[in-house]
Amino acid sequence: MIALQRKIAILGATGSIGTQALDIARRYPERFEVVCLTAHSSADKLFELVREFRPRVAALETEPAWIPEDVRFCEWVFGRDSSARALEFSGADDALCAVVGIAGLRNVWTALACCERVLLANKEALVTGGELVMARAREMRRTLLPVDSEHSAIFQCLRAREGNPVRRLVLTASGGALRDRTAKEIENASVEDVLRHPTWRMGAKITVDCATMLNKGLEVIEAHHLFGMDAENIRVVVHPESVVHSMVEFQDGAILAQLGRADMRGPIGYAMGFPERLPYGGEPLSLTEVGSLTFRAPDDARFPCLSMAYEALRAGANAPVVFNGANEAAVGEFLGGRVRFGEIARCVRAALDGVARREIRSLDDVFACDLEARAFARKFLGGRK
Ligand code: NAD
Ligand code: MG
Repeated sequence: MIALQRKIAILGATGSIGTQALDIARRYPERFEVVCLTAHSSADKLFELVREFRPRVAALETEPAWIPEDVRFCEWVFGRDSSARALEFSGADDALCAVVGIAGLRNVWTALACCERVLLANKEALVTGGELVMARAREMRRTLLPVDSEHSAIFQCLRAREGNPVRRLVLTASGGALRDRTAKEIENASVEDVLRHPTWRMGAKITVDCATMLNKGLEVIEAHHLFGMDAENIRVVVHPESVVHSMVEFQDGAILAQLGRADMRGPIGYAMGFPERLPYGGEPLSLTEVGSLTFRAPDDARFPCLSMAYEALRAGANAPVVFNGANEAAVGEFLGGRVRFGEIARCVRAALDGVARREIRSLDDVFACDLEARAFARKFLGGRK
């Protein structure tokens, strides 16, 4: 069977996920025509990608001072929501949503309207707009393919369920860069410490989220929306080797797991090629080299953000938006060197307690609540520098 070439848009093309997706597109030019490339402000990097992949349309959120002659062949879109606007007339069959943060929600929304398949890396879109996004996917009959490694693993395991009900989802967590540090060391961890992730190479924001373990909290909420499971039936286990990417437990106690190397080209390639598995050139996993796999319970005392995510999920309404918005603001302040690492968790806690509960009925409600949470966080952190 000769697979058809698919037109793909890569939103957030200069980032960690975006560049790894382009590695796969580069390897399979007969399978992927890259029709749209977008980024925030790394203009030179995007120009290079445009020269190589020759998309129909490209976008930058921050308009550059100058566009080189040799990239003017494609349409350019600049400014607010430029990725979503570019996607609309790109003609893409598939959109890989790999912008970081709630900034990616508008893209996911647009992708569900104009693309057959949405390859979802941007977990914050589901955390903040989960019900709305899932309803839209159902209404538009779109395929939502998870790219986050845990959700890709669960998605793959669920294909073997054969109609049987699921008892639990088990998400694995590396534990992040501070996994084995004391509470005091965690409180004062430097940006450099935090960005040294033990197993995965990723963008800065998600690497900080791994160190607080708030990333796993975002993933619990993401799993709730993607797979329709209640908070009670989603567990987290710390698994330092990052070999088991996540698991599904059935009523008879059987647990199916998906294993692989800690290499995002695995789940990215799975979503891009779905349902076909495309070899991407990574070294095969050697279980004898790994030797042993270990699992332990998360430590709530040192990493309180994970249980705050469960709390936000159970509270519903705007709580997950507040949880996410306060974190995005606090992570920005931490990466800018303006607050201590320990303030991130305290800021999220304060925002969950301090921002009033409101119902979320539209995307505008999500964005308004996000602004409210950020304003709260800035004020909270401003008093603690
Ligand atoms: P990154 O910071 O490396 O890249 C982000 C990309 O988004 C860049 O291309 C940047 O230019 C673009 N961008 C940022 N803000 C934008 C805006 N307002 N408009 C347009 N473009 C914008 O991030 P990443 O690590 O690649 O993560 C991307 C998403 O994928 C995140 O939601 C993250 O949680 C998720 N994810 C990442 C990994 C990973 O291994 N990196 C794994 C699982 C999930
Ligand atoms: Mg993940």
